[in-house]
Amino acid sequence: MSELKNLSKAERVSYIQQTLDELYPETPVPLDHFDAYSLLVAVLLSAQCTDERVNQITPALWQVADNPYDMAKVPVEEIQAVIRPCGLSPQKSKAISVLSQRLVNEYGGQVPADMAALESLPGVGHKTASVVMAQAFGVPAFPVDTHIHRLAQRWGLTNGKNVVQTERDLKRLFAENHWNKLHLQIIFYGREYCTARGCDGRVCPICRTCYPTRKHAKKVHKP
Ligand code: SF4
Repeated sequence: MSELKNLSKAERVSYIQQTLDELYPETPVPLDHFDAYSLLVAVLLSAQCTDERVNQITPALWQVADNPYDMAKVPVEEIQAVIRPCGLSPQKSKAISVLSQRLVNEYGGQVPADMAALESLPGVGHKTASVVMAQAFGVPAFPVDTHIHRLAQRWGLTNGKNVVQTERDLKRLFAENHWNKLHLQIIFYGREYCTARGCDGRVCPICRTCYPTRKHAKKVHKP
């Protein structure tokens, strides 16, 4: 009888990528948008909110204003009233208002395709800026959200010290031209199979193939 052996890291990387490609050959962007600005606002709204809820709210927001010039003129209270169901509405409405003014004043009404410039906008952290770079401009990025942080640990691709380390490890392990697709594929897998409380690391084919000898639940660090 052949002895069970855990896969090496390189074998895991290639098996995981192949499995995700089979499961999710297409990777539609989950947040509805029609340009870089609408994506930026939608990603900002998605902080601590589900994509589904953001998609329910944004059509009403675009009726109020669908570009930075118009949004900059809308009173913050009006933006807040529309986006309230997304949570954190005082902070998010202020951020949308101020970032729209800044886009008008500093970037000719355009969303800059530049990581540092994006990160300098209110309400836009490293993860939001990375999503916009990847999904609006097609620039390789590997935004690490809570799903990706969790799965990368369960799959032994990082020690999960923090999201900065997880992003660095994933970028080192996977080829750059796959980053944008993998980011979405891992999120899809996390939502469908590998939820935060749904598994202890020994149920579905990815872990059973990568870690056939795993005997104990895999503990993960939160971001
Ligand atoms: S076995 Fe569990 S932890 Fe591993 S990939 Fe499947 S759902 Fe995730």
